[in-house]
Amino acid sequence: MNNDTTAASSPAPHAWWWLRAHRALLPDYNLRASVYWWTMFCIGSATLLFAAWQVQALPWPVLLQIVAGGALAVVAGFFPVRIPGSRNSFVAGEVFIFLLLLIHGPWAAVMASAGEAFVGSYRSSKRWSSRLASPAISALAIALAGLLLLGARALIGEQAAHSAAVVLLTATGAAFIYFVLNTLLVSIVFTLKRAERFDARAFVASFGSIGIAYCGSALLAALLFLTVEQSGLGVLLGALPVLAMLLTTIHYFLRQQDAQETVRKSQAEAGERERAQMERHMSALHESERRFHSAFTHASIGMALVSFDGRVLQANESLTGMLGLANSHGLIDRRFEEMTVGDDHARLATALAPIKSGQSDTAAVELRFLHVGGAEIWVALACGLFTEPNSEAPCLIVQVQDISARRHAEAQLNHIAFHDGLTGLPNRSRFHAMLTQALEVLAIDDSRHFAVMFLDFDRFKLINDSMGHSAGDAFLIQVSRRLHDHVRPGDVVARLGGDEFAVLANQLSNEGEATGLAERLQAVLREPMTIGGVSVSTSASIGITFSRLGYTRPEEMLRDADIAMYRAKAAGKARHALFDSHLHREVAERMQLEGDLRQAIADGALDVAYQPLFDLAAGRLIGFEALARWNHPQRGMVPPVTFIPVAEEAGLIVDLTDLVMARACAQVRQWQERSPALSELKLQVNLSSADLAHAALFERVDRILRRTRLAPRLLTLELSENILMQRVEGVIATLESLRRLGVSLAIDDFGTGYSSLSYLANLPIDSLKIDRSFVHGMRKGSKNAEIVRAIVSLGATLGKSVVAEGIETVSQLAQLRELGCEHGQGFHLSRPLTVEQAEALLDCLLAELTELTEHASPSSFDTGLMPLVRH
Ligand code: C2E
Ligand code: CA
Ligand code: CA
Repeated sequence: MNNDTTAASSPAPHAWWWLRAHRALLPDYNLRASVYWWTMFCIGSATLLFAAWQVQALPWPVLLQIVAGGALAVVAGFFPVRIPGSRNSFVAGEVFIFLLLLIHGPWAAVMASAGEAFVGSYRSSKRWSSRLASPAISALAIALAGLLLLGARALIGEQAAHSAAVVLLTATGAAFIYFVLNTLLVSIVFTLKRAERFDARAFVASFGSIGIAYCGSALLAALLFLTVEQSGLGVLLGALPVLAMLLTTIHYFLRQQDAQETVRKSQAEAGERERAQMERHMSALHESERRFHSAFTHASIGMALVSFDGRVLQANESLTGMLGLANSHGLIDRRFEEMTVGDDHARLATALAPIKSGQSDTAAVELRFLHVGGAEIWVALACGLFTEPNSEAPCLIVQVQDISARRHAEAQLNHIAFHDGLTGLPNRSRFHAMLTQALEVLAIDDSRHFAVMFLDFDRFKLINDSMGHSAGDAFLIQVSRRLHDHVRPGDVVARLGGDEFAVLANQLSNEGEATGLAERLQAVLREPMTIGGVSVSTSASIGITFSRLGYTRPEEMLRDADIAMYRAKAAGKARHALFDSHLHREVAERMQLEGDLRQAIADGALDVAYQPLFDLAAGRLIGFEALARWNHPQRGMVPPVTFIPVAEEAGLIVDLTDLVMARACAQVRQWQERSPALSELKLQVNLSSADLAHAALFERVDRILRRTRLAPRLLTLELSENILMQRVEGVIATLESLRRLGVSLAIDDFGTGYSSLSYLANLPIDSLKIDRSFVHGMRKGSKNAEIVRAIVSLGATLGKSVVAEGIETVSQLAQLRELGCEHGQGFHLSRPLTVEQAEALLDCLLAELTELTEHASPSSFDTGLMPLVRH
């Protein structure tokens, strides 16, 4: 750094050290404190210098005395005598300073005082600001006090001043002034530094005792001075060691005292603190205990403290009230589990086990308690670990809530959900659940075999229809009571719906027990019962299946019992049938078939066969009947009599009909387009009962016709007589709308059903297809021939065309023609054909037609056609 540049920005070199000294000495002093400090330091230093100047001029024996006195003052500074009960101390050095003041005047005292103050502040403070200010202020204070003393003496006069009383008084006064000045001037430093206002009261209060110590020192010095004046300095020399010893002894004694006092005090304080803390703790404990007991006693929920070994230690009013007790006396020391009902104590033990083993702090369980009156009450227990303030062993705190109302409501809801409203028997859901449980038990214990019976009353529909619903209900109630009363204990009777009942026959040692039960039940049910004053007898068909067949699902078991029941019904009612392995295989096969059929329909893998239909009189092909064909990948051709019922039961028939109808319509439309001679080719399609019931039948037919562009008047829908009669009322509107569209309707298998003539006249039907069984048995004069004749004439009367099916022989054909039957089909005329075969037939026909047209011989058209199409 260069001097020129620093000269411009920094103070001049002579001021530089002063500033550095200032910063080092008083870094934290504000301006006023700094000014004051420096003023005191300068005046004090000047006083000290002046005093030194005065003293050095004295003769050397005097100088020696002053040095000795100063040294003593300094040494004494190392042994401050603490003033008991205060933080201030009396310094024996002051005695020598006052002695010097009395003997050799203020300047000697200034030297000693500055020395003593320096040593004292050096020991008590690390800061040079204190170490320098203390001696400077001391020097100034003692100088002023000394000068005042000299002034006072001069005022009083030399003679009087030496009287003992005046010496004592003036010395004390000087000491007082010295003390006040010294402490005041020092205090001002701190007051200014902290920028506080000077508090005279606090000043007096804090320095009072030390002021008295100063005065004491001054008195001692005055006494020594008087002694010296009378007996010479020798006395002082003799007294000095005694004084030193005395002061030292007092110093150490007091220090020891002080140390002991400090220890005692800190012990006492620690004790006091501990005691206060303990008191606080205890009062908090008492408070929490009081609160706990109040909460426990007045809780609206039942509460008990239970020991680990299960004894009731305490119980509140809510709990005793819940149990119907007047007070808790009857409960105390009783075993808690004694309150539970039946085997609920085991559930309690299970619930509490995790707490007792330390695995958990809480547990909850719902169980039944016994009320004094003998009733059961449902309670929810919430248990937790609890340690009583006055005992080390933890116990259980148990909260008990009465949940009887909730349980009761739940039980009611449960009963409603799982019981039949009419008979009170378990319903289908409940039976299903019980069956599930029985199967689960069997899976664990293979000796627990059981049977399921499916019961269906043979005449319930009759009773319901003829006697009314309330009679039907009364009947169901009576039979359900009979069933319930005659099964074995442990068996379950359920009402599945309608007149269907089921029995779960538990714990079978052999199957004969189940069939024996079925026979007993049938015997009981056969006994006549009175309903609405009328004696009614009934019977039931019962299907039985056994758990040993290896069921895993309850619905499979019910299904098989149901199948067996149908077999019983089919075998002539009022009997029972067993679901055996044969039936089981049948069912399994049927299930398989159903799955395969579903897939085939979804894939469009069914085919259609076309059986030609002829105008019998003209010998002319008029159209085809579409027949579904299923070529099963493994089984080969499956006949419609097998798969159509499967499709009907599995709900697949609507899709099947749509598939056949759409394909056949498109096919026939395509054939019609081959030649104008084929443009009037007809198509007959079979419908099943589900199609008739289907709400969108009209839309389905309409959509297919539009899509394939087949003229509606060329389509005939065949409905079997049975189907039609079952559903007649509901379907007439649909049939009429189909008729309006132009579609024709035929009754298939006519003669096998029970259609009454009145119905027949009103049905929107175009043709009757005589069932092939009648055609088969036709011999001249036979009964069947008469039936066919009757049907033909009926058709003529009603204005409906008649079709004969199943024509297998020439004679049948001849007879039908003779009877005037309009149309016909049959193996004799043509078997159902594949598309290719049908096309070959059509080709043939068209070729012949051309030939015939060329030769213009209509008679050969009549006769020559039929043999050609025979395959
Ligand atoms: P159906 O409607 O009475 O059909 C005529 C049945 O008689 C056809 O049997 C046919 O092959 C057979 N048949 C024709 N001519 C003769 C004959 O001279 N002698 C003998 N013994 N039988 C003859 P298929 O094809 O086995 O059909 C059986 C039944 O299956 C049909 O009886 C019909 O009720 C039903 N069916 C066939 N295809 C369909 C269909 O697409 N939908 C519906 N719903 N049922 C169909
Ligand atoms: Ca048919
Ligand atoms: Ca038929």
